[in-house]
Amino acid sequence: MTVHFHEEDLPAGVLAPGPVAVDTETMGLITPRDRLCVVQISDGKGDEHLVRFAAGSDYAAPNLRAVLADPERLKLYHFGRFDLAAIKYYLGVVAAPVYCTKIASRLIRTYTDRHGLKELVRELLGQDISKQQQSSDWGNPTLSDAQKDYAASDVRFLHALRTELNKRLEREGRMELAQACFDFLPHRAELDLAGWPEIDIFSHM
Ligand code: MN
Repeated sequence: MTVHFHEEDLPAGVLAPGPVAVDTETMGLITPRDRLCVVQISDGKGDEHLVRFAAGSDYAAPNLRAVLADPERLKLYHFGRFDLAAIKYYLGVVAAPVYCTKIASRLIRTYTDRHGLKELVRELLGQDISKQQQSSDWGNPTLSDAQKDYAASDVRFLHALRTELNKRLEREGRMELAQACFDFLPHRAELDLAGWPEIDIFSHM
């Protein structure tokens, strides 16, 4: 299990075929203001790849874009809504088709309101991940080992989580509903970018 670090793009051919886990680290939560700093990606075979973008980057990243835009490759996220918006805004691609472990958790773990990645990994996989570096300076030209470990751990468990969540979605008959939500997610991210960030267009008010 190795964490590979790259600058400005993913090398060609480093990912096995099949679904990839994807996460992003940014300067903050306001996508047009807070630049994309790191994209993490894993094919689920044990290695994670981190792609760091410098301040002033042109985000050309042809190899990374090709993987993210590949319609044959399922992208696994935890709270994909945010990552899809950041990737669309900075890398210019819709990183779909989508599976979101947070949405799956919300549809299945109706006995709790704790749907964070740490809680999900603990309950479904019995593993412990640290969220200590979550609010750190991802724009720093030199990322610490703790930051790299944290960034990698955010994509490390998404394949295994999907397997466990799918068992529960099947059991409770909510797979189709989950799939419909995943399919809508790129559009939800587009609404965020287009000016409806915290407005629920489905609500009466
Ligand atoms: Mn993350």
